Amino acid sequence: MKKVKIQIIKIGIQHHNVLFKKLENYNSKLFQVSIKQISRPNCDFGWGFNFNSLTDILQNAFDKDVYDLCIGFIDTEIENNYFSKRLSEKNNIYVVSFFEIDKILSSNNINLFNFMLLTIYRCLTRFKFNRKPSSHHETKGCLFDMCGMKEDIIYSASAPIICQNCQTIILEQHSNKQFLNDLKDELYKIKKGTYYRIKDFIETNPWFSLIIGIFISITINILSNYFYENIKKLYNF
Ligand SMILES: [Zn+2]
Repeated sequence: MKKVKIQIIKIGIQHHNVLFKKLENYNSKLFQVSIKQISRPNCDFGWGFNFNSLTDILQNAFDKDVYDLCIGFIDTEIENNYFSKRLSEKNNIYVVSFFEIDKILSSNNINLFNFMLLTIYRCLTRFKFNRKPSSHHETKGCLFDMCGMKEDIIYSASAPIICQNCQTIILEQHSNKQFLNDLKDELYKIKKGTYYRIKDFIETNPWFSLIIGIFISITINILSNYFYENIKKLYNF
């Protein structure tokens, strides 16, 4: 399947430079990226979508002859405090804001890079399927959760899924399951760090974790004794 060519536009100097470097090395079957840095103009007018706006900034910066899709990233607040917004009728220019999301994810031990990937997959799917699936109000940990309460982003950013309704909508647009399967495979790899997943498991299953801990200690003890006895026999202690 042909990869979608995405131009990532980094608007101004940002706190999260490391994410863009990581994204350059990210391997996907569905998209490839190129990153372009532009300066952030004066923001006396605020970061709206109409007059003298983010739409103009991104439309001017987007090299549309080379790339299929443009996603601008900014770390300040944008109009209506959205975290992601489509800016063009052609469905090929989007803006994503890290504002507040970075603090919400950090306090839940979730890497902000998960959010960056999530928004890219979300924009990419909508670009391919003419703005579908739409966001749904119900929070399910789905790529298309609306997240009216920004805090709800923690569910999709820690282990994103495509809910059954959204899968049906995608297959209505494109009966070939290859895109959906690739999307699900790549979303499956977006997780919290291993340390924090173990920590979450212990916190949510304290008794079960205690039993596992005791079982592991006993097993290690038995194995140590077994090896000790064998070494003793071998060297005639
Ligand atoms: Zn869904």
